[in-house]
Amino acid sequence: MKIAVAPAIGAGGSLFSADQWKAIGEALGKEAKVEFTSFKQLYVDIEVERADEVKNALLAAGLEIYPVGFFTKNLIACNFCRGAEEAGLAIALQLNEAVAGQEVPSPLKVGYAGCANATSEPLFQHIGVVKMKNGFDIYVGGEGKSIKASVGLLMLEDVPENAVVAVVQRLIAVYKENARKKERFSRFVQRITLERLRELVSTE
Ligand code: SF4
Repeated sequence: MKIAVAPAIGAGGSLFSADQWKAIGEALGKEAKVEFTSFKQLYVDIEVERADEVKNALLAAGLEIYPVGFFTKNLIACNFCRGAEEAGLAIALQLNEAVAGQEVPSPLKVGYAGCANATSEPLFQHIGVVKMKNGFDIYVGGEGKSIKASVGLLMLEDVPENAVVAVVQRLIAVYKENARKKERFSRFVQRITLERLRELVSTE
């Protein structure tokens, strides 16, 4: 079986410590093949019989484990170089907690950046949250994959901090309720249109 492994989001970003690499090597064994994905997760194949043992060792090392496939990935966050408070580490942690690991019609990536430099490239994720001077801007429909790659569209501007998680949760709920089978979020946004999506997100 395949699992996704990620470090916790912290003040320096999503960083693996040397001890965690060691724990990964010891838990998986010398022959293991580990894929380093473009969205900051490690994909590892483990034997079903050893799944609990391996997962427990990784969790004990402070790593996080997520399902692989048609699920929301853990938050693709920036490195918070402006400091935890200014770059919004607390809201990033809340977002990750609220969205990661949800079953969705097609694998879904949510990006977060603590300032307009947006070095974590949230506009190429399906949903992108960017901390701005007066609130948070939320982009939708970015797509980094395929020759039809696209940049996210600005859906909402200056969302207050206490509403960000709810808006992203609502977006995911609308996607789950209205998407066609296996429809990518970026395609879903194109089909349903930005205007309609704004309405659906704001109806509750
Ligand atoms: S997005 Fe801004 S705060 Fe975050 S790492 Fe990049 S420059 Fe720093």
